[in-house]
Amino acid sequence: MLNKSSTKRGLTTGSKSPIIKLYQTKGLIWVDQVKTGKLIRQLRTQMGITQKELADRICVSDKAVSKWECGNGCPDIASLSALSEVFGTDIGVLLSGGIDKKETEKGNMKKLKFYVCSTCGNIITATSDADITCCGRRLEALEAKKAAESEKLSVQDIGGELFISSDHPMTKEHYITFVAYVSDASATVFKQYPEWGLQITMPLYRWGKLVWYCTEHGLFYQDL
Ligand SMILES: [Zn+2]
Ligand SMILES: [Zn+2]
Repeated sequence: MLNKSSTKRGLTTGSKSPIIKLYQTKGLIWVDQVKTGKLIRQLRTQMGITQKELADRICVSDKAVSKWECGNGCPDIASLSALSEVFGTDIGVLLSGGIDKKETEKGNMKKLKFYVCSTCGNIITATSDADITCCGRRLEALEAKKAAESEKLSVQDIGGELFISSDHPMTKEHYITFVAYVSDASATVFKQYPEWGLQITMPLYRWGKLVWYCTEHGLFYQDL
């Protein structure tokens, strides 16, 4: 029997869900909702359909489509799956807003290192020791501190998906610039923006860790 949400979204049930494919992909995925939104707008205009027409096809409101296209929120996993069917695009491409080969790495994600440029805010990752320079300076890999109970991000199981949120400040002066899910085999980096609340939906991972970077307090991790 179809559950309510899959009936609402008009998705077919079956084992060949594209989302499964994405999260079995070994490697590093970057999620940038601003880029994702631009890509959705581009693909929709190429098809010659309105926001409302796209919304109807994937059973969401046109407000939701407009929100995504403005980069003001990322489609949830069911919507991403529906969008990839409508556009005939891989979910990984949608999430990263077009694949940037430089950002697609393979290797042991346990060794994934994070570098942040304090001048321009660039986030750079590497799976092996690398000479990373940005804005004319050599960057050191960041050491992640284990988050204390009060610093932890809130992780909720919302029926088959994990909902990550936090009441950490999100102002231009002090905010979380990214949250990454890291396991042995894969890593997904969710880029965050100041003045937008931290809210991320991801598949229901049962192990691995979350790694995030605060502009004032540095790199933290917590185990799932
Ligand atoms: Zn820089
Ligand atoms: Zn902080």
